[in-house]
Amino acid sequence: MPSTSQRVGRFSESVIRHMTRLANAHGAINLSQGFPDFDPPEELKRAAEQAGRHGPHQYAVTWGAPNFRAALARKQSRWMGIDIDPDANMVVTCGSTEAMMVAMMTACNPEDRVVVFSPFYENYVADTILSGAEPIYVSLNPPEFRFDEADLKRAFAQKPKAVILCNPSNPSGRVFTRAELETIAGLAEEVDAFVITDEVYEHIVYAPHRHTYFAALPGMDRRTISCGSLSKTYSITGWRLGYVIAAPEVIAGARKVHDFLTVGAAAPLQEAAVAGLNLPDRYYDELLASYTAKRDLFLGFLRQTGLRFCEPEGAYYVMVDIAESGWTDDRAFCDWLVEDVGVAAVPGSSFFRDPVRSWIRFHFAKRPETLEAAGLRLVGLRGRAARAKERV
Ligand code: GLN
Repeated sequence: MPSTSQRVGRFSESVIRHMTRLANAHGAINLSQGFPDFDPPEELKRAAEQAGRHGPHQYAVTWGAPNFRAALARKQSRWMGIDIDPDANMVVTCGSTEAMMVAMMTACNPEDRVVVFSPFYENYVADTILSGAEPIYVSLNPPEFRFDEADLKRAFAQKPKAVILCNPSNPSGRVFTRAELETIAGLAEEVDAFVITDEVYEHIVYAPHRHTYFAALPGMDRRTISCGSLSKTYSITGWRLGYVIAAPEVIAGARKVHDFLTVGAAAPLQEAAVAGLNLPDRYYDELLASYTAKRDLFLGFLRQTGLRFCEPEGAYYVMVDIAESGWTDDRAFCDWLVEDVGVAAVPGSSFFRDPVRSWIRFHFAKRPETLEAAGLRLVGLRGRAARAKERV
């Protein structure tokens, strides 16, 4: 039998998705893979029913159904503060997962270097390898998860073709400040690199922090490839609706990559999602208020674990430092957590370039009752973990 490609040997299966399978197998409360356990807004469910009954059921235009693109361009132009032409500046994709892959394959030649901040959302490394590029890592240094400008300059001295910027950041919960983004912008300009953003948590930014869209920074609209998604904003992770927004020259390439990868995102769901894109601003205020309450509730329980954590500024993840429990292996810790405590987290090592084994990631995109049930299981975790460690 022939052997499979070298590239598939260069990255492993997603640990995030593995933890969900493990949580299901043990009946644990799943705070690993980030997705809600509550429904999307009623308007979207109704629209999906209608689309199921009346269609469309056949392919949409490969780069996105015209009415979906028109609604998305209206919404994103307003939020991002840039002019987006639905015919020239966007491609609709199967989730931001495809959007990122399309962006990478459109921007990079084999052997181009790409700056990736570590810890990173796992997909970026696979995206880099699949597009033939080589990652250059820049640390977001724990416990604050901020980068050191000198490290960033050293990375840019290697003349990367692109930098991947997840903001608000998964897994760290960091929201990059305008000054940090301007530093990145200055360096990208110097070496003429693309900035590929993953801004799927754009509407989940806790006061007093504010989200700055990279494309809206002065002079950055033409070098930014903005990737986004409806998954988190409308609680429809299973609908797989994402998009790339960029300059027309970039979009011309991205359309081709997307067309040959997937042809298109689900036509009935694009139709239904227009109802979400047309929701009034009040919806986004309520979304943020509800995530702020979830964050406060879950962090309240985390404070009772006795473990240190990094307070999230945005997104719905929190990194917890397990070092003081005496465990030195985050994977073994997460196995114990699923099996003995009944809560699933993601071992942090799958997000770091360096062998960092002392962080785990929880997400809190869950109903208050789920967070309470998980929280009660986590109270006193540090002491219980330390005692369990002595037994093994
Ligand atoms: N973004 C989610 C996370 O980090 C998962 C997304 C996915 O599994 N496709 O957990």
